[in-house]
Amino acid sequence: MAVDPLIELRDVNKYYGELHVLQDIDLTVGKGEVVVVIGPSGSGKSTLCRTINRLETIQSGTIRLDGQPLPEEGKALARLRAEVGMVFQSFNLFAHKTVVQNVSLAQVKVRGRKKDEAERRSHELLERVGLAAHAQKYPAQLSGGQQQRVAIARALAMDPKVMLFDEPTSALDPEMINEVLEVMQSLAREGMTMVVVTHEMGFARSAANRVVFMADGRIVEDRAPEDFFTRPESDRAKDFLSKIL
Ligand code: ADP
Ligand code: MG
Repeated sequence: MAVDPLIELRDVNKYYGELHVLQDIDLTVGKGEVVVVIGPSGSGKSTLCRTINRLETIQSGTIRLDGQPLPEEGKALARLRAEVGMVFQSFNLFAHKTVVQNVSLAQVKVRGRKKDEAERRSHELLERVGLAAHAQKYPAQLSGGQQQRVAIARALAMDPKVMLFDEPTSALDPEMINEVLEVMQSLAREGMTMVVVTHEMGFARSAANRVVFMADGRIVEDRAPEDFFTRPESDRAKDFLSKIL
C-alpha cells in the first residue's frame, strides 16, 4: 500500500514458556487501513493485539508505532497505551461510575484534561456512538451493545492513532452485534486505522482493506478480503472458512 506505515512488526517472536505463540510475524498496517485478523481459537490473535499495545513483551523482533520503537516502560509507555486504543470482548466499565464519567476518567488522568473539557469531549463521543441520551446512566442500566459502545467512546477519548478491537461483539446477544459493527464501520469510513479480530465475516468483507489469517502463531495469509474469501490459498484457511461460512 502506498501510504505511510503506522504499525510495523518485523520478525516478531513471542513465547509463553515452551509455547511459541507468535512466530516470525511480519505485519505492516498503513495509516487509515483496516486490517481484520481471523483464525482458529488459540492461533495467537489476542496475543498479537496485546503485543501491539505492549501489554505483552516479545522475545525477538521489532515493533514500531508511527516510526518509533515501542517504549519499554514509564511515561513513554503510558503515552503509547493512550495512542493505541483497545476494545475487548468484555467492556470493563466502572460499575459505580456513570457513562460520562467512564468516558472522562482517563482523559483527566492520562491526557491531563480539565474535568469540564473532558466531559465536553465525552458528550461529543457519546453522540457519535449514538448514546447521547444515556450519559448519566450507570453501566448496569445499559444493554451489552450499549456498554460496548461506551467502551469504544472511552478508547476514542484518548485520541488514539490506532484502534485495536479484540472480538468486540463475541460476548453480545445477536441483536446487539450490528449496532457495535455500525459504529466500527463509521470509524473505518472516517479514516481510523484499525486492527480488528472478529468472526464477523460481513464486517471483514465490507470494511477491511486486508484480511490476515493466523494459524498456530503464524500469519498464513494476508490478502484483500475478496481474494481471501473467494480464493483462499492455504489448506488451513480453506478448512477454517468451510467451518464458519
Ligand atoms: P486467540 O486469541 O487466537 O484465541 P491467544 O492469543 O489468546 O489466541 O492464545 C494463543 C496461545 O497462547 C493459546 O495456545 C493460549 O492458550 C496461549 N496463551 C495465551 N495467553 C497465555 C498466557 N498468559 N500464558 C500462557 N499461555 C497463554
Ligand atoms: Mg482471542
